[in-house]
Amino acid sequence: MSSQNRPMHDRWSFSQIVGALPPSVPFVPPEALERRMGRALRLRVGANESNFGASPRARAAMREAADGIHWYGDPEGYALREALAQKHGVHSSEIALGSGIDDLLGLFVRLFINPGDPVVTSLGAYPTFNYHVEGYGGLLHTVPYRDDCEDLQALDEIARRKEPKLVYVANPDNPMGTWHHREALAALAANLPERSVLLLDEAYADFAPEEALLNPDVNGARVVHLRTFSKAHGMAGARIGYAIAPRALVEGLDKIRNHFGINRVALAGALASLGDVSYIDSVVADVELGKEEYARLAQSLGTRTVPSATNFVALDVGSGTRARALVGALLERGVFVRMPSVAPLDRCIRITVGPAPERALLADEVRTAWQEV
Ligand SMILES: *Cc1c(COP(=O)(O)O)cnc(C)c1O
Repeated sequence: MSSQNRPMHDRWSFSQIVGALPPSVPFVPPEALERRMGRALRLRVGANESNFGASPRARAAMREAADGIHWYGDPEGYALREALAQKHGVHSSEIALGSGIDDLLGLFVRLFINPGDPVVTSLGAYPTFNYHVEGYGGLLHTVPYRDDCEDLQALDEIARRKEPKLVYVANPDNPMGTWHHREALAALAANLPERSVLLLDEAYADFAPEEALLNPDVNGARVVHLRTFSKAHGMAGARIGYAIAPRALVEGLDKIRNHFGINRVALAGALASLGDVSYIDSVVADVELGKEEYARLAQSLGTRTVPSATNFVALDVGSGTRARALVGALLERGVFVRMPSVAPLDRCIRITVGPAPERALLADEVRTAWQEV
């Protein structure tokens, strides 16, 4: 075989870790579904993007920043980190910016995990964390959900046995939308082995009740809070999020992060969005109405939605087989939703809650598709 025709894996010698990884696609994007179907989706409610859009102030700031796009963004993210520090009552040296939580998850895994190091999470939790753990050769230890919640007690027990450097929990949770009281999270954090860090993914913090949110008392605790502008702030495409973490960890990230990885449009948009509290409040209030509507829709279908502290609902379809069929039937009708990956969570489909006209259309489509499965 000439070298030109040889498959890639013969020509290149990947690192041992990457060479051993199976090909993986953590998320099939809606764009790929559209290409596959040869037509546009009518409703994009599968990735918890906010179809309310970004705040008008954020959009104006981003348009203005686009005119300066020939300049790199501030790699220290000074203005935004100061604003975030003020919002959370911490010092700006305890704020790290990233291109979304997904980026920060990868950085924290890289910061801590040597090949073979144990890591603890829930079976069926948000998949990007696992993706990064595998990419750096960590060993995942998982515990199943209990009653549609991440099982903090089981996480506690396995963490004390495996002594992982990282324990990952999303609160509120994705894919189920459930949440734990901050005291339960504080207890988990306090019980962890001395060298463990709790990566607390708070992507849905803006939608959560006060009691769900552990105070970022980062100096004493071994807790990293991860937040994003992708959900309530409606800026998923801008790719910007942050961690509230002990200063030593922020300094650790400074050794490995992609310094110009956050673009200046995103920085400007995030700062403006932080300043538009009433817009975010209005989105959260409308999502609350939408969740009530979807609960009533479920009731009319003889089922329920799982009570949610996020911008999505898990609609109980009864079984994994039926849920998969419903996801397929909805896609046929141009409606993109996703579903949890493991039983018994996979008896549900996950629907993002958007503005009222979209909700009315979605309800019609679900009612029709429900009859087909
Ligand atoms: C949406 C989501 C993310 C992704 O956040 P980005 O900031 O867009 O990377 C992370 N974690 C959870 C639990 C999510 O639902």
